[in-house]
Amino acid sequence: MNDCLFCKIIAGEIPCNKVYEDDAVFAFRDINPQAPVHVLIVPKKHMANMLECDAETAAALASAVGAIARQEGVDASGFRIISNCGHDACQSVNHLHVHLLGGAQMAEKMA
Ligand code: AMP
Repeated sequence: MNDCLFCKIIAGEIPCNKVYEDDAVFAFRDINPQAPVHVLIVPKKHMANMLECDAETAAALASAVGAIARQEGVDASGFRIISNCGHDACQSVNHLHVHLLGGAQMAEKMA
């Protein structure tokens, strides 16, 4: 998509700190990290959020979550994944992404 920040990052038009890439998924460090490990996991195909996510993309994202958690060394200690969807969840970038957060003890409450 022409005017999408994450499409531009995936295309290499905007720099990022890349941590992972496969055929369907691209992942990079969040510019404003909320935890010691904060990675954004993004499908290469543009879709606004989980409401537009097909089964193939969901499987690719889930597989990447495991690979990145192991790569970042949070698989044993634990991590949290969040995908903000729409206004009430404060989604700020309208390209589906999963936040992977870890590397520290998190709050029990999620919201
Ligand atoms: P959300 O609020 O769930 O839509 O998450 C969007 C995330 O993108 C936020 O956590 C931002 O810090 C992050 N973000 C925005 N611009 C960039 C960028 N250029 N590189 C990396 N992360 C970004």
